[in-house]
Amino acid sequence: MDSNIYDLVIIGGGPAGLTAGLYACRARMKTLLIEKMMPGGQIMITDWVENYPGFPEGISGADLAERMTRQAEAFGLETAYEEVVAIRPQGDVKEIILADKSLFAKTLIIAAGAFAKKLQIPGEDEFYGRGVSFCATCDAPFFRGKTVVAIGGGDTAVQESLYLTKFVDRVFLVHRRDQLRATRILQERALSNPKITMVWNSVPEAILGGEKGLAAVRVRNVKTDEIQDLAADGCFIWIGITPNADFIQDTLARDSQGFILVNARMETSVPGVFACGDIRNTPLRQVATAVGDAAIAAVAAEHYLNGF
Ligand code: FAD
Repeated sequence: MDSNIYDLVIIGGGPAGLTAGLYACRARMKTLLIEKMMPGGQIMITDWVENYPGFPEGISGADLAERMTRQAEAFGLETAYEEVVAIRPQGDVKEIILADKSLFAKTLIIAAGAFAKKLQIPGEDEFYGRGVSFCATCDAPFFRGKTVVAIGGGDTAVQESLYLTKFVDRVFLVHRRDQLRATRILQERALSNPKITMVWNSVPEAILGGEKGLAAVRVRNVKTDEIQDLAADGCFIWIGITPNADFIQDTLARDSQGFILVNARMETSVPGVFACGDIRNTPLRQVATAVGDAAIAAVAAEHYLNGF
């Protein structure tokens, strides 16, 4: 890293950031990617990705991340492992503020992704790491032969519940409606899996336990108001995501949930600043859409730089 002005700084090294880096380096833009943890983003906590084209047998999230990183680096992508704490994006030169210094770039791509939403119920924080988890890939082996509760009804909840069945004896899958939102093929697999018991029309009210850890998840039937304590050793929460947007504050236009608003060229409300992947307002948050967005954003940044 040097103190010169970059053509492009990319914030976030998930599938979107790595793809933007690949395209920008091939366009010979002087590019820096800033990642606060490790490259790969959310796919690092995804056991198996089977809907990303080109891998007919599927691929582990970690393997896909490693391949994306290697491909971007092969074209010269430089990465700094730092956290961006704020940005000042107005004007021709954008300031990217880290803990102890600032970097400057002519264009900026924000690919900082998203993180799991919390339930905001009693016991959730108390038992986090002692039964409550947001990551089956990380924690499923701790629940071998046990019973867990999974909360949610979308693709991630169903896919990850299926993964849990490789370890646990039983999964109670709690969903607030009477049918799943997940892709049909995932629904079919979950509904025919003998280890998964559906708990329909129900919402979690509290996570219960004691010194030994989590003991049960209290759920309420939204139709009958009946309360039920599901005895379990763990609780996995997959109810959606929130953008990693604290560092953006009010510098860019965002929607009511905090996702960055962009047009079809991934341009934000500030000229020279682009956003792509899970952090933007989009109807689908997947690897395939993140990388597509990122390719558009990188080419749009190149055109902006060249005055097209
Ligand atoms: P992310 O992957 O969220 O990456 C963002 C990166 O930005 C992170 O590495 C983060 O550390 C970094 N970052 C954030 N803030 C800062 C900051 N201030 N400074 C520096 N760096 C920062 N999709 C599929 O297509 N198929 C699947 O099977 C699938 N399964 C999934 C299973 C799970 C459990 C989860 C959680 C997601 C799954 N997804 C799946 C969704 C997919 O992982 C995301 O859509 C995709 O990772 C989005 O990529 P992204 O680059 O936009 O964001």
